[in-house]
Amino acid sequence: MSGSSASPGSDSKRQRALPVPKTAAGMRTFDPDSSIVSDIIPSPNWGERNKGRQPDMILLHYTGMPDVEGALARLCTAGTEVSAHYVVLEDGRIVQCVQEAKRAWHAGVSSWAGEDDVNSCSIGIEIVNRGHDWGYPEFPLRQIAAVIALCRGIMLRRKVAPHRVLAHSDVAPARKKDPGEKFPWHSLANSGVGHWVTPAPIVRGESLMLGTISDEVMSLQQALAKYGYGVPVSGKYDAATMEVVTAFQRHFRPARLDGVADHSTLSTLQALLASLPAEGTAVAAK
Ligand SMILES: [Zn+2]
Repeated sequence: MSGSSASPGSDSKRQRALPVPKTAAGMRTFDPDSSIVSDIIPSPNWGERNKGRQPDMILLHYTGMPDVEGALARLCTAGTEVSAHYVVLEDGRIVQCVQEAKRAWHAGVSSWAGEDDVNSCSIGIEIVNRGHDWGYPEFPLRQIAAVIALCRGIMLRRKVAPHRVLAHSDVAPARKKDPGEKFPWHSLANSGVGHWVTPAPIVRGESLMLGTISDEVMSLQQALAKYGYGVPVSGKYDAATMEVVTAFQRHFRPARLDGVADHSTLSTLQALLASLPAEGTAVAAK
């Protein structure tokens, strides 16, 4: 099914033609996994899931490129070694590039809950947004509505738990910022997508920060690791710990991104851990 509106259909006013990369012409197409997919643009960049793993995680990204044409071309051209299962456009249209059964190449070097092959256990969704390097615009409401609908369908079909819907920055804190602090995780959570508690208010008080060496730092690192973050548990607040705390803030306490574990950050983390489902803790502690 090609959704590009070359013919003057009733949709032509509402939708711009989709910029299908030239490289996608002639690629073997497939049936969409989700009923709300509007276009298939097959990407050659995928492999088989390791040991037949079934996806039980959804990873959200932004494209981080100036325009959608460039983003689709990059995701669907052989040799770039990147892809995603889905791309959600700003107008809410959803493009599928890789079948869910296959392993798309979106996570890169990453780790979550002790799992290093995140691509084998996840479904990757690229959300079209220029990202931090190009002005980082707000995510339009209809785009977010489409992300929610897509995720809900995947969660139902694949039995993905809400706390297994994560940001690329959660699994690769040293390398990635996407989808970033403007991404409305609270709106997703209102629709049952993702794990969220209202962030604890920012107040004055003691904080753990870069350079601190203490049992409290060890407890913080243990709590972050229990939630799923790949963090060294050393008792030393090193650069890696600061990056993980910043990633945590970007997702769960976006009002201040400073990599400092203040009272608000610690309380929000504890509240999240306390509200994980019982088997969720077991997965995270594995
Ligand atoms: Zn990403």
